[in-house]
Amino acid sequence: MKTIGVLGGGISGLSFGKLANTVFKVEILEKSNDWGGIAKTLQINDSTYHPIGGHCFNSKYPEVLDFVFNKVLDKDKWHIIQRNAVIKLLGNEIDYPIEYSIKQINKLNHDLALNITKDFLSANDDGNYKNLEDWFRKKFGDTLSELYFIPYNNKIWNKHPSEMSPAWVEGKLPLPNKNSFFQSLLSDVKDQMPHASFFYPNSNNQKTFIDALAEGLNIECNYEVKDIFFDKKISKWVVNGEKLYDILINTLPLNHVCKLIKDAPIEIINYSNNLKYNQVTTMFWETETTDKTWTYIPEGDNFFHRYIHIGNFFSPKKNYTITEVIGRKTYEEMVENGEKDPFLIKPLAYNVSEHAYVVFDQNYDISVNGIKNYLDSISIKTLGRFGEWEYYNMDICIKKSMDLFNEISSIN
Ligand SMILES: Cc1cc2nc3c(=O)[nH]c(=O)nc-3n(C[C@H](O)[C@H](O)[C@H](O)COP(=O)(O)OP(=O)(O)OC[C@H]3O[C@@H](n4cnc5c(N)ncnc54)[C@H](O)[C@@H]3O)c2cc1C
Repeated sequence: MKTIGVLGGGISGLSFGKLANTVFKVEILEKSNDWGGIAKTLQINDSTYHPIGGHCFNSKYPEVLDFVFNKVLDKDKWHIIQRNAVIKLLGNEIDYPIEYSIKQINKLNHDLALNITKDFLSANDDGNYKNLEDWFRKKFGDTLSELYFIPYNNKIWNKHPSEMSPAWVEGKLPLPNKNSFFQSLLSDVKDQMPHASFFYPNSNNQKTFIDALAEGLNIECNYEVKDIFFDKKISKWVVNGEKLYDILINTLPLNHVCKLIKDAPIEIINYSNNLKYNQVTTMFWETETTDKTWTYIPEGDNFFHRYIHIGNFFSPKKNYTITEVIGRKTYEEMVENGEKDPFLIKPLAYNVSEHAYVVFDQNYDISVNGIKNYLDSISIKTLGRFGEWEYYNMDICIKKSMDLFNEISSIN
């Protein structure tokens, strides 16, 4: 039986391991003391904190839903939640997605609603986009772009959309065409995005799902990968000079893994130094009651960019929210800014992430493609949000793991 070493025990490494374990001898190496990566949770009081930001699960891929609900955690162990997301704007809460909420904006500011409508319907989308700002303007028109899309994205990427590539955005946002936009002015039509409703485990803790993925797998935690090389004499990958594998699957961030590979060319190290990403700081709060699932905050003078009302993912609901801000912030900054909002009652926990968001700057294509071609040339398969340096949600990580498993099992 061939041996596979999987570097990293996040959703990607665990999903791949779950599938490959039946056919290969798989070992997963994880540097932290627990599996789950970016999706992991912590138990605080009687509640669940997502230290790297709140998560919900759904997928447009039937094979992913089939895998999760039939091979990982039975569907009757999840409950469904209807998204009820809002955007803080004009001193109010506007329903998300904003382009379907023009009637609501009209009640607050008629001229603004009129300008949004005029601009949206006359926007000229010629399919050529200079940058992300240009993409927003051509898809949604100038007024909506300037009111919401440009300021919110400026906050979440910590970079102005004019300096970013639009490569990530297709399929990630609800995109009404002119007809559906017009229909939304006449009726209460809603978007059909996969996260319009979503699943959360009945245990009220995403860890139940992650533990179910990990069940039965050979995972070595507290094991940091520091050194990788291919030993031609024995035709094996050697990790940290001691672990031998026929096949190596990487899910570690691309900027990190290149530096671990013995004799990686300087050009590849340079590419990896050019990759940009953001960290995220979160704080877990006891709160007042809300019926919302999350709140987007585009306003530049508000410290946070998003509240995840995680307590409303639970059944029964509880009053807990996670506030998120891009970058590395101190505990004191989080508390001081949270105290400006009476909705947030008491801080309970705090975390600064490592990798959280890939940044799609103008160097993105050349650097990411250069690294992926190199890994491919030395037969390291790479997988996952930072292993592929893509804006992937958990379901896409699972889908990519399924695709890679099918590819590897067909040739081995
Ligand atoms: C703020 C935020 C909100 C999100 N919300 C959602 C959501 O609502 N729904 C959704 O589906 N997805 C969401 N996602 C995306 C989701 O979290 C990711 O797609 C997924 O968790 C990525 O899994 P991964 O295994 O590819 O990567 P990771 O989770 O990064 O796993 C990589 C693993 O490698 C380990 N590692 C790193 N270096 C080493 C080393 N040297 N040696 C050994 N191990 C190492 C890490 O500890 C980690 O466990 C969100 C992401 C963020 C940042």
